[in-house]
Amino acid sequence: MKENEDRLGRRDFLKASAIVAATILVRPVAHIPPEQPDECIPQGVTPELQEFLASHEVRKGDIDRNVVLMTYDDFGNHERFNAILDTYQELGAKATFFVPGGYARDKIYLRYYSREIERIVAEGHALGCHGLIHEPLTVYKKDQLSKDIRQWLGLVSSIVPGYEVKYFRFPFGASDQDAREVFAEYGLQSVLWSLESGGTEERTLQNVLERVSAGDIVLSHTPRFYDAYYSRQIVESLLSSGYSLESVATGLKKEDCPSARLDPQECPNN
Ligand SMILES: [Zn+2]
Repeated sequence: MKENEDRLGRRDFLKASAIVAATILVRPVAHIPPEQPDECIPQGVTPELQEFLASHEVRKGDIDRNVVLMTYDDFGNHERFNAILDTYQELGAKATFFVPGGYARDKIYLRYYSREIERIVAEGHALGCHGLIHEPLTVYKKDQLSKDIRQWLGLVSSIVPGYEVKYFRFPFGASDQDAREVFAEYGLQSVLWSLESGGTEERTLQNVLERVSAGDIVLSHTPRFYDAYYSRQIVESLLSSGYSLESVATGLKKEDCPSARLDPQECPNN
């Protein structure tokens, strides 16, 4: 009897092991594209365009139109990120999303947000760079900044091949002329903001709705609770107040639009 129980126990153990192994083997593999460091390096960035981009940091959108540019930085919470994207998709509004590569050199997790990156591009928003690592960039030499931006562009290129990234947001808004010059070599223009939503405080909704005016660039964050929680109310209220919610691709004032690479569809006031 004892021997029989042992044999049964062994059989159950082997059966359980086989189920566990099968589960591991058939589990769907996450969609994680490989890095392609040297793709998506933009071509045709002329010296004139570089000079323009390095010297035209954006701080406000087109104040001559009733336009508001909602911008969302960072990643770190899939649910909130997608809730915000859902809001914009359902209400037909556009925004700009600035994503870093990661939060430390050994934690470059951008590729784990490939679904969200694909949505940003497919749903007509603007995707911008928020640095390879989310640190103040003023401490880095130009060589390192250049290397980092290539790595970031390579990551994004492997997720949305052919998408041309045109905008950059400095982590913490710590803007720097040397860095602006490096990013301009890659066709990137720095975009700051004129209004902060807060995002971690309950006043997030009022912070936006009570202070907003034409041309404002609103800083929000995809992983922050109240930015996600109030995204629908913010978008609905702004739309019903007569604002057009656009991405930086169409909502900049004409002085900040580089005519050298101007698409007639962009910067409609030009
Ligand atoms: Zn950030």
